[in-house]
Amino acid sequence: MLELEEAVGRILAAVPTAAPECVSIGEADGRILAEGVRARIDLPIFDTSSMDGYALRSSEVTRASKEAPTRLKIIGRVAAGERWTGKIAENTCVRLFTGSPLPEGADAVVMQEDTNPVADEFVEVLDSVRPWENIRMQGEDVKKDSLLMDCGERLSAATLMLLAATGCASINVWKRPTVGLLATGSELVEAPMSLSAGQIFESNRIGLASVVKSVGGIPKIFAIATDTLSQTKRALNSALAECDILVTSGGVSVGEFDFIKPAVEAIGGSLDFWKVSIKPGRPFVFGKAQSKLLFGLPGNPVSAFVTFLLLVRPALLRWQGAKKVDLPASTAILAEPLNNPGGRRHFIRVRVDDAGEVHSAGTQASHILSSMAGANGLVDFPPNTSLARGVRVSVLRWS
Ligand code: AMP
Ligand code: MG
Repeated sequence: MLELEEAVGRILAAVPTAAPECVSIGEADGRILAEGVRARIDLPIFDTSSMDGYALRSSEVTRASKEAPTRLKIIGRVAAGERWTGKIAENTCVRLFTGSPLPEGADAVVMQEDTNPVADEFVEVLDSVRPWENIRMQGEDVKKDSLLMDCGERLSAATLMLLAATGCASINVWKRPTVGLLATGSELVEAPMSLSAGQIFESNRIGLASVVKSVGGIPKIFAIATDTLSQTKRALNSALAECDILVTSGGVSVGEFDFIKPAVEAIGGSLDFWKVSIKPGRPFVFGKAQSKLLFGLPGNPVSAFVTFLLLVRPALLRWQGAKKVDLPASTAILAEPLNNPGGRRHFIRVRVDDAGEVHSAGTQASHILSSMAGANGLVDFPPNTSLARGVRVSVLRWS
């Protein structure tokens, strides 16, 4: 049986080289960069006022106070978006607003609240200002030609804002995989159909689709396949024709109704491995068919979810050229003792509270969906281990 790390290594080695495409940045949210992006301009692109006020020479207002104001002549007015071509001379100032370019000759802005207008032409300055006070300096945020983001990094709300601010309109990103989701099991029914005796509602595809989307893949949900070899073969063939990566759930164990492995082989596919030494989710098929990657997850919802996070999610990210493919991890303190009495490495469902303390999310059996729903992390627990309250653990997160 494979260790998790070896299984992930084999999967990542089989992922094809990513392919780039050019998209507008309006469509680039969540996409992974296929090239490094350098700043085309300085940010700010010019020295800018950070206040509504008056641009002046700071040396002329060093003694300004409420009791003894310094009077300056207003020789111009620059709204944000305008440009004023004059130069500030002795005892003059220019009316400015937040975002106005700083006029030549000025080295500070006094804020409006520290001034008194005198008719339209003059202003009394009631306080001194330090050189460069209330000015956003050209290039203090970003220098032209500096690297904003590297190839393989993922675009998000704030990084998109950064690129937009530097005038980037379109960008090369890696293509997204279409990820087929196929549930197998003769007992499975999709709501709002009603259940007959022995049937249950299918629940894996919707959760897996959510994770697929969260890492930039395009989920494609296929109809439920019943447990016969011919149905499973037919379902695999038609799903494979319409996706880049196929993820099935159910039918990977050793029962006489588990048809994924024989069906993959019968349609000319190949199996790389089908067991990983983790709990939940020991039976897990990885192979290829019709030159596409194929993942066969166990049917138990918790096993399907956890194996998807640990073994499929990295492949979806690598397919899109991501550098970082592991689940994000952070450390936190156990609020209660946790133990894994079993002989297999167990990914225990936990809930990290707002204070950063880790609680068990409840019963850990692989059919218990409520504890999965209440969890926001997994703790990778070695076999036969107990950890006391207060111990610092690493928690894997997926959202
Ligand atoms: P299997 O892996 O096919 O042996 O299924 C293991 C358990 O998971 C059985 O109790 C199945 O009924 C259940 N199961 C399988 N697939 C699904 C699914 N897509 N949604 C909900 N439960 C499932
Ligand atoms: Mg089954």
